Amino acid sequence: MADPIPSPMRAMALSRLAGFVPSAGQAYAAGRNTDPGPDEPAAVSALSAYVRYRLIAEQEIVADVLARHSLERAAKFVQEVLWRTYWKGWLEMRPAVWTRFLAERDRQHDGFSDTGAIAAAEAGQTGIDGFDDWARELVATGYLHNHARMWFASIWIFTLRLPWALGADFFLRHLTDADAASNTLSWRWVAGLQTPGKTYLATTENIARYTNGRFAPTGLAREAIALREPPADAPRALPEPVPYDARQPSLLLVTSEDMHTESVFLGTATFKAARVASGGALLWGDNARRFVRAATADTVSRIAAHFDCPVDLTAILDAQTLIAAAQGAGVRQIVTPYAPVGPIAGALAPLVSELAGQGIVLTQIRRDWDRRFWPHATKGFFAFKDRIPAILRECGLA
Ligand SMILES: Cc1cc2nc3c(=O)[nH]c(=O)nc-3n(C[C@H](O)[C@H](O)[C@H](O)COP(=O)(O)OP(=O)(O)OC[C@H]3O[C@@H](n4cnc5c(N)ncnc54)[C@H](O)[C@@H]3O)c2cc1C
Repeated sequence: MADPIPSPMRAMALSRLAGFVPSAGQAYAAGRNTDPGPDEPAAVSALSAYVRYRLIAEQEIVADVLARHSLERAAKFVQEVLWRTYWKGWLEMRPAVWTRFLAERDRQHDGFSDTGAIAAAEAGQTGIDGFDDWARELVATGYLHNHARMWFASIWIFTLRLPWALGADFFLRHLTDADAASNTLSWRWVAGLQTPGKTYLATTENIARYTNGRFAPTGLAREAIALREPPADAPRALPEPVPYDARQPSLLLVTSEDMHTESVFLGTATFKAARVASGGALLWGDNARRFVRAATADTVSRIAAHFDCPVDLTAILDAQTLIAAAQGAGVRQIVTPYAPVGPIAGALAPLVSELAGQGIVLTQIRRDWDRRFWPHATKGFFAFKDRIPAILRECGLA
């Protein structure tokens, strides 16, 4: 989809995708597990930060890839994109897993006595080949290859025997693509909490092979015994957003959960005004904040041109700000792309009743992609994966 006005961040995402598409088939499948190092070209797309904040949407990525490759040839890449969709849907039905992680993180933060071991691990001073390099690479670049994330989490939990929730928190504070669902559930998966009893063990041979021999750490744990936790609550039904009345004049609210609002409101949506929330305090770390700051500037100009309405920035997502913005625009409806489980959803939830007290409705719009895929994230990924071809056909993509 071509954009009508220059927008550097979105343009970067589209150009990265265009550069990647030719190798999304066999080349990706064969090379995706190799982490050649931060300065070498890798087989992966490096699109994750753009997808995380939805400057580019999963549907666009899959559409472009399938315009060039058959689903069979690009199956591995399409499945990886859908891991993200799956994690988001899975957590949406189990929000207590997120709140339990936050509580566990705070408990370990206050109670774990070996703070020196945590500091050494975060500073890359454990003496473990590779692990120390990934800790420094993460802080410096805001990115780690997927395989490095798996090795790092495994060594953190099973070799260093550090609390998993503090490792997940370290990732959240430094990843540019830091995401409540993908990060928490991947750490849980490595630890044996997500698929009970099934853990991920990093080995010297695997690391040496898939880092092209750059690292061959010794002294790694030889077994990975699954961590345990009390049983989780039963999954809830996916929350049904308040219906959106397109005839009512509205204020558009854009958050860092979904910044390409133009592809959420296709057709005839008209807005009296828009607010883009920069969300600084709701992001975990400087790498993410820097990225979202640039994306916010980009989004303000795109939205103003696309929806032809005045757009302001807001630093804080509170009821007073939104009430003043809605009243200033003379509207009683605020519309925003759906915020999945995470800090933005956590900030919006308590505003609903305060806004209602002023006669203002907050409506969240779920993307068609999420609406179709999320209900299938009830069990493991393999059951979900079986549904992919049929749902892509429903979306007109395969
Ligand atoms: C311990 C751990 C923590 C992680 N934390 C995050 C996180 O906070 N945010 C995040 O976006 N991803 C996270 N991931 C998933 C994955 O590592 C990154 O999405 C991927 O490395 C991004 O690189 P890429 O864009 O080159 O991926 P590609 O291989 O090119 O994949 C394309 C897109 O698919 C999605 N994707 C690919 N693999 C996965 C996966 N395993 N899980 C979920 N989505 C995937 C991403 O959106 C990615 O941009 C984590 C993985 C692990 C093991």
